[in-house]
Amino acid sequence: MIPTNGLIDFHCHLDLYPDHAAAVREAEAAGVFTLAVTTTPKAWLRNHELTRDTRHVRAALGLHPQLVSSRADEIALWETLLPQTRYVGEVGLDAGPRFYKSLDQQKDVFARVLRACARAGGKIITVHSVRTAKAVLDHIEEHLPQRTNRVVLHWFTGSKSEAARALDMGCYFSINATMLNNEKAAALVRSLPVGRILTETDGPFTEVDGRPSKPIDVADTVQALAKLLEFPATSLANAMRDNLRQVLQGTDLR
Ligand code: MN
Repeated sequence: MIPTNGLIDFHCHLDLYPDHAAAVREAEAAGVFTLAVTTTPKAWLRNHELTRDTRHVRAALGLHPQLVSSRADEIALWETLLPQTRYVGEVGLDAGPRFYKSLDQQKDVFARVLRACARAGGKIITVHSVRTAKAVLDHIEEHLPQRTNRVVLHWFTGSKSEAARALDMGCYFSINATMLNNEKAAALVRSLPVGRILTETDGPFTEVDGRPSKPIDVADTVQALAKLLEFPATSLANAMRDNLRQVLQGTDLR
């Protein structure tokens, strides 16, 4: 097993674990760079408080597409809070059967998110794109023209040509262990350049040994990814760290 120190969980819902503070502490103690995403801007304050002084854990400001049908009006609060962070997510679109009905509303909210990021610049955005890869990329192309922001597509399940388009647009991809267990997703991951890959858990929405995954479980993800890409695990971990540096490059390193 490779050491967890220096590994990356670029998309994890630490505030959805039974003990939020303990989840932050554990990721911090393990030295896993963890991006704690939020699903509503109302969760920002607590996430921000718990991560203000951490070395490895950062909080992102989100409005999850699956919540837009009931919380679209929270986009105003989201916009107010944006100057407090350079990390944005979870945001995006979801056209799955349960959320298809709110897709137009989701598109309005996502466009506002992207336009606000474009105006501000220097934002790092973790994006959900379930059954909407093309629409998500269209939105990014239209509303986030400058390259001063970074987009990381989380749990991307689009086609290889959509992935190629995303790469041309400068997007990164965060990969979780569940994706690697799926043949089609694994084939897509294999087609990505190592220089655009980060790891994630999307905990607690993925499982390891029948329990919700935690940031330290990215050690397994790195190992599985290394096997898939035929790369030594430690070199892959170093490559991910370089990628993280690229993503964070620019303004200050918080
Ligand atoms: Mn998520």
